[in-house]
Amino acid sequence: MGAEVFLRGLLRGFYSSREINSVPDVSMREFGIGDFGRKISARHLSFRSHAEMNSFLREKAPFYISYSCARYELPSARPMEAKRMLGADLIYEFDADELPTDCKKSHDSWKCRSESCGASGAGRALRCSKCGSAADVEEWVCPECLGEAKRQSLRLISFLQDDFGLSGGIAVNFSGSKGFHIHVRSGEVQGLSRSARLELLDYLTATGLDMDSLGFSYVAGRGKENRESGFFVCPKKSGASGWAKRILAEFERVFESGDASRLGLMGGIRESSAKKLLKEKHRILSHMDKGLLAFSTKEVPTNRFWKSCMACIVADLKVEPTLRKTNMDTLEVDRQTSVDINKIVRVPGTIHGSTGLLAEEVAVDGLKGFAPLDECLALPSGDVSLASAVAPRFYLGGKFFGPFGGEGAVLPAFAAFYLLARGSASLSGVSGSGVAVPGGV
Ligand SMILES: [Zn+2]
Ligand SMILES: [Zn+2]
Repeated sequence: MGAEVFLRGLLRGFYSSREINSVPDVSMREFGIGDFGRKISARHLSFRSHAEMNSFLREKAPFYISYSCARYELPSARPMEAKRMLGADLIYEFDADELPTDCKKSHDSWKCRSESCGASGAGRALRCSKCGSAADVEEWVCPECLGEAKRQSLRLISFLQDDFGLSGGIAVNFSGSKGFHIHVRSGEVQGLSRSARLELLDYLTATGLDMDSLGFSYVAGRGKENRESGFFVCPKKSGASGWAKRILAEFERVFESGDASRLGLMGGIRESSAKKLLKEKHRILSHMDKGLLAFSTKEVPTNRFWKSCMACIVADLKVEPTLRKTNMDTLEVDRQTSVDINKIVRVPGTIHGSTGLLAEEVAVDGLKGFAPLDECLALPSGDVSLASAVAPRFYLGGKFFGPFGGEGAVLPAFAAFYLLARGSASLSGVSGSGVAVPGGV
């Protein structure tokens, strides 16, 4: 039996015992499904109810099922315009593979595409370090990089709640593979145009953020010999909101922490100068409360220092959701397609066919302690024999497996799915229907 038949058997087993009721206004959504190795093989499907969707899942056991962030009057109509859109949720995605984490060196690898070169190495590289050709990257995830995707998601949620005032209607789910999806379903976002969605995205990513319009402006000093002796006006803490409030709070936090090395790096000054600034922190903070960024230490250039601090703080605090790529080789991002209101995303509570993991919903206040590689196992744990497996050491369900360098292995079904689905393993040569789908989770 081939891997596809075996994996589909596991999926069918899963859907036969589940009832999935995770799609609000299910009858107004467009659905798409995917096959083994193909994330979308059909779109423009629709279901009248969750019951109809569940019987479809039981019958077809698709490798992937996604639904539209938009609600439509006629969700299965074609072309897109004929569906008549009624509104669309906001959806943000964070994928672990996009985030620069140290763990990539231990679980990712690249291989040069040029046959005459053949170089390869550890980590994530888009170009061959030997000949400069494009490289193929073998990506894996681990608790560390998924943890970073989670931190980014939490930061985004704080922007949604504090800066956009969207307190209700936020739902989070693990994508079932590399990251998290944040859905905003509240009424006030439904009618937002594409350009309004782009504006929100630019706000989150601090694209084109203008300090002057936030209220941070430099007032030059009068002394000719020391042109940088002026000060900055800043918004008063009590009335500040949005980015201005975040920047002021971070200034305060760094000064309060007394961390001279951090302050030095932030302001582009020597640590010894940062220490002098920290000595007058009470004055600096009390000025700040009154709408002034000023200090008396002469050796620090006022304008350059505060500007450098602001740029550094913004770079640290902004969120960068995973954006749609227009060119996979250069990973070029198209902001316009990233706010596509016709996009479809994984149905929460279903299995991601590349991993066998559950795309599980997580409560916003439970996200911090959520461990997807432990909590999203949904397939049986009975043993499956693999003829060969190639994988770095990977973590799943509370333990590590591998590394495997092409040898045979016996793994629990959920781990076998994880490797088989990505083509990193082959089943032991059992003919016909000899491989029994293992039971018991
Ligand atoms: Zn090369
Ligand atoms: Zn990792």
